Amino acid sequence: MAHVITNRCVDTKDQSCVEVCPVDCIHPSSDLDGQEEFDAYPQLYIDPEVCIDCGACVPECPVEAIFYVDDVPDEYESDIAANREFYQKWLPK
Ligand code: SF4
Ligand code: SF4
Repeated sequence: MAHVITNRCVDTKDQSCVEVCPVDCIHPSSDLDGQEEFDAYPQLYIDPEVCIDCGACVPECPVEAIFYVDDVPDEYESDIAANREFYQKWLPK
């Protein structure tokens, strides 16, 4: 299980969630991955293999984009796969 970032993140991308994640499983971020990687994607994603479900990121998000996987609203259901698939393709530089 894991937390999921929905596409509500698009256009905000303020990285507040990255700062509080204890296991650095939110990417791509300018601090962890470089500005070029951060700019190359429309939103951030949570690595479901690394997230420990601490929930620290949820209240930090100004647009309420982050949900526990079982609580993702129906309209954002496809974002569960989008977070997983990001990490199947993306390789940290
Ligand atoms: S729930 Fe915790 S471990 Fe998972 S992404 Fe959020 S801050 Fe990181
Ligand atoms: S805090 Fe919310 S809007 Fe900001 S980067 Fe994280 S998920 Fe996106």
